[in-house]
Amino acid sequence: MSQSPPSSSPSSPPTPTPTPSPPVVIRPCAACKILRRRCAEKCVLAPYFPPSEPVKFTIAHRVFGANNIIKFLQELPESQRADAVSSMLYEASARIRDPVYGCAGAICHLQKQVNELQAQLAKAQAELVDMQRQQANHVVLISSTIT
Ligand SMILES: [Zn+2]
Repeated sequence: MSQSPPSSSPSSPPTPTPTPSPPVVIRPCAACKILRRRCAEKCVLAPYFPPSEPVKFTIAHRVFGANNIIKFLQELPESQRADAVSSMLYEASARIRDPVYGCAGAICHLQKQVNELQAQLAKAQAELVDMQRQQANHVVLISSTIT
């Protein structure tokens, strides 16, 4: 399989085939451009990494590696791939921001906030019960002075 291409001119693209593809995919995709490889018709990365947003692929590639991204996507049905890409981007950005905890750091931070807010809510509810009891006492007091 060591077939070398006869033409060395990279500027000549293969003849465009008029395939009716539903999503508009511009080739080469950002992934293939960064990896310096030919963006094939069946490139799994092309729908999710448009050439207009090269940073998206750079971030995901830095953390997961291109081969893993391709493997993850190939194991998923097409309907779930866009979500998988956005979660990988989220995780990769979190890992770059926080190399120690990654998105676990964000989860811990949010969990702490939830705990604090729950404590505040419990305190406010206790205060409310207290105020309602005081109000009830006033009503009893007022009605007893009127009668
Ligand atoms: Zn591609």
